[in-house]
Amino acid sequence: MQRRDYYEILGVERNVDESSLKRAYRTLAMRYHPDRNPGDAECVARMKELNEAYAVLCDSDKRRVYDLYGHDGLSGYSQSDIFGGIDFSTLFRDFGLGGFGFGSGIFDNLFGTGRTSTRARPKASDLRYNLELTLEEAATGVERVLEFPRRRTCSSCRGSGAKEGALHTCERCDGSGQAIREHRSGIGVFRQISVCGQCRGSGRIVSEHCSLCEGKGMLEEAHEVTAAIPAGVDTGHTLRLEGQGEPGDGDITPGDLYVVVSVMTHAVFERHGEDLYMQKDIGIAEAALGATLSVPSLDGECKLEVSEGTQHGTLIRLKGKGMPRLGSKHRGDLYVVARVAVPTRLTREQRDVLQQFQRLGHEGSSH
Ligand SMILES: [Zn+2]
Ligand SMILES: [Zn+2]
Repeated sequence: MQRRDYYEILGVERNVDESSLKRAYRTLAMRYHPDRNPGDAECVARMKELNEAYAVLCDSDKRRVYDLYGHDGLSGYSQSDIFGGIDFSTLFRDFGLGGFGFGSGIFDNLFGTGRTSTRARPKASDLRYNLELTLEEAATGVERVLEFPRRRTCSSCRGSGAKEGALHTCERCDGSGQAIREHRSGIGVFRQISVCGQCRGSGRIVSEHCSLCEGKGMLEEAHEVTAAIPAGVDTGHTLRLEGQGEPGDGDITPGDLYVVVSVMTHAVFERHGEDLYMQKDIGIAEAALGATLSVPSLDGECKLEVSEGTQHGTLIRLKGKGMPRLGSKHRGDLYVVARVAVPTRLTREQRDVLQQFQRLGHEGSSH
């Protein structure tokens, strides 16, 4: 299936800001919302497309991934990763239209990957963990204990959210979750299908909530997992920890945990791939005469040879003092940018010497 560009779906420019994005989404959503177009399959399809596009673009992380890698970049995300952060109900409340949760059909999977196809075993949600590392940690690799809450199906109500014996089949829709209306006209009978208003499509009515989970059907629990982050990781790299997402149950395979790395900016070093850059102030005498100086590196202080006549802005390369390449023994380089610092305060003696230098310099240049 040819996937349409998210920006195109919403009819916005690629540099659209958050509020214009929301406005564009609302305008289109109002047009295609199934509450306004009951029984129109075309509108449901458009609405799904809009929801997906908006869910990705309104989240700066997902939007960055999409901008960089397109649809492929998001193939590792599950539905709940994509839609998890958005409360669609509040987006529509102002307009008197219903919001949609999972299972309403509006969020049916558009990600046509094998993993989520109907033939695949049902799988619990994948989870995402944002891990911030220092540059030093990214350079050496690090083991981190990640702590995060996971949701598990409530053991008391087995996920129904109802107290024992308090779950009934919806009488209005007879458990189908659908409201069907028939219209007769001269041409024939039209069937209009929408979500049952009594049970909101679940087909079941809970008369008393489960006391353990308060009707949510899920319980939150703290979970710990140790992640080994390899040396050389960079911002945007993602580590998949199989089976560490939401727990499975019986037939349901546990979800995966996606650890998304971001490397913090460093006070001294600026990273460009596997190379590092830093600036070093060099005195005018050292720049002119040459000197051996000391600069910080990821391996501690190291020697910097400044050659005679070094100009401001010169790049001095320290081979192999950069970041390690992921999965390899190779290391990038450290580039030191020479900043020739002109003194702003001089002692009388320094002034005398410089004035003497100036006279000599003039003599030198007059040759
Ligand atoms: Zn429960
Ligand atoms: Zn119903």
